[in-house]
Amino acid sequence: MRYLSTRGGMAPASFREILLQGLAPDGGLAMPERYPQVDRATLARWRGLDYRALAFEILSLFIDDIPPAALRSIVDRTYRAEVFGSEAVTPLTTLQPGLHLLQLSNGPTLAFKDVAMQLLGNLFEFVLAERGESLNILGATSGDTGSAAEYAMRGKAGIRVFMLSPHEAMSPFQTAQMFSLMDPNIHNIAIRGVFDDCQDIVKAVSGDLAFKARHRIGTVNSINWARLVAQVVYYFKGWFAATRSEDEAVSFCVPSGNFGNICAGHVARRMGLPIRRLMLATNENNVLDEFFRTGTYRPRTSRETRQTSSPSMDISKASNFERYVYDLVDGDGARVAALWREIDRSGAFDLVASGEFGRVAATGFVSGHSTHADRLRTIRGTFEGSGRIVDTHTADGIKVALELREPGENVVCLETALPVKFEATIVEALGRPPARPPGFESLESAPRRFDVMDADTAAVKRYIEERCGGA
Ligand SMILES: *Cc1c(COP(=O)(O)O)cnc(C)c1O
Repeated sequence: MRYLSTRGGMAPASFREILLQGLAPDGGLAMPERYPQVDRATLARWRGLDYRALAFEILSLFIDDIPPAALRSIVDRTYRAEVFGSEAVTPLTTLQPGLHLLQLSNGPTLAFKDVAMQLLGNLFEFVLAERGESLNILGATSGDTGSAAEYAMRGKAGIRVFMLSPHEAMSPFQTAQMFSLMDPNIHNIAIRGVFDDCQDIVKAVSGDLAFKARHRIGTVNSINWARLVAQVVYYFKGWFAATRSEDEAVSFCVPSGNFGNICAGHVARRMGLPIRRLMLATNENNVLDEFFRTGTYRPRTSRETRQTSSPSMDISKASNFERYVYDLVDGDGARVAALWREIDRSGAFDLVASGEFGRVAATGFVSGHSTHADRLRTIRGTFEGSGRIVDTHTADGIKVALELREPGENVVCLETALPVKFEATIVEALGRPPARPPGFESLESAPRRFDVMDADTAAVKRYIEERCGGA
C-alpha cells in the first residue's frame, strides 16, 4: 500500500514513511492510493473474530511494511482487557430498540482517543527502536488529546513528550489526569495564556526547521493517518455487534470536531462495510453541520469559536475534513489545493455551483447540531430511558441520532468520553455527579508534576533543549 497527499504533491510513500510525519511536504494529508475492498464472504469470516484478531486483519490491509508477526504483537499488546477494561475493548449496549451505544471510552483516559493513541505509542516505539532513533513529541492540548498522548507514550523507550496546556483552564479531572503522571519522559508545561497561545508556540517551534531536525521534534495530532486507520476497526466491530447477517445495514452517529472519528467511518464505508448513513453531530460550533446542510465550508476564527459544555468539539476548522473532500473530488489533488487556496483568499469555499456538493448524498453523510439545553435534556432523557449516564459529547450525538433516525433504521451512537470527565454539566443535568470508575476515586488528590511558563517560544525551546541533552 502506498500513500499520496490530498494536494497531489508528494511522491508515493510507504506506511512507515508517513507514520512519523505531520503534514505532507505539500501541506496536504496522507491518503491510501486506494481503499482495500472487503466483500460479504470476508465479513462473514471476520464476524467471529475478537478485537485483536479483527484489528490485525484490518490494519494489515493498510500496513504492509511491518512484518506480520511484529504487527500482530503490537496489536496484541495494545488491545488488552487490562488497558481497555474488557476483552471486547469496545462493547455495544442498547439504549432503546434501534438505538445503540458503542462504548469507546474505557481506555486509560476515559475518552475514545485512547483507542488510536495506544496503538500509535506501540507503533512509534517499534519503528524508532528499529531505526535506533528517538523522538520528542511536542503538542498543545485543551484536554483529551494531550492526556491520551501522554498515557500512550509514558515509559516508552526513545520517546519524550512535551505537552503545553493553558494554565488553569482544563477541567479539574483532565488536569489531574495529566499532571499526576510521574514518568520521567512526560513533561507537562502549563502556559500562562489560552489554548491558542499554546498552539502558536507549537507552530513556531515546528517552524524552526533547524531546531526541529536537531531535536527530532514530532507530533501526534489528529491528522496522523495511523490514528485514523486504528479507528476504522471499531466501526467494523460495532457493525458486527449490531447485526446478525451480512445483509443488514447500520447507521453510525458521531460527535465530531476535527472530523477524525467520522472520517474513519467514511473509510470503513468505502471499504464495503454496509453502513447506511453517517450522521455527523456538532455542538454550537457548527462549521461541519453548516457544510453538510449548505455546501459551504467556512472555517471560523478563534474569536468566533465558542466555549461550550462539549469542549472537545469546540473547533474552528476541521483538520481531517480535507480527506473527505479529496474523495468527493475523486482524488484530484490540484482541485483540493485550489479549494484550500480559496479558503486562504476568501475564508470559505462552496461546492454547490461546481456540482460537487451533489455527490455528498452518495457518501451517506447527514448532519445535525445541538446546544447546551439540548445536551442537558438528552443526558436526562437517556438516563430516564436506559439508566445510563452519558457524557456531554455523546449526548450531542444521541440528540442528533434521535432527530435524524428513520423508522426501522438501526443506529449506533459512538460514546466518545465517560461522563466523569465533565462532571459539572452532569450535576447541572441530573443534580448529582456520575459514579467514578474504579481507580479514579481520588485522582484529584494525587501528587502532581508540571511546570508553569509564560507564553514565550524561546523559553519553551530552552526547556526542551535542557531536557533532550542538546544535539
Ligand atoms: C476529540 C473528541 C471528539 C471529536 O472527535 P474528532 O475526531 O476530532 O471529530 C468528540 N468527543 C470527545 C470526547 C473527544 O475527545
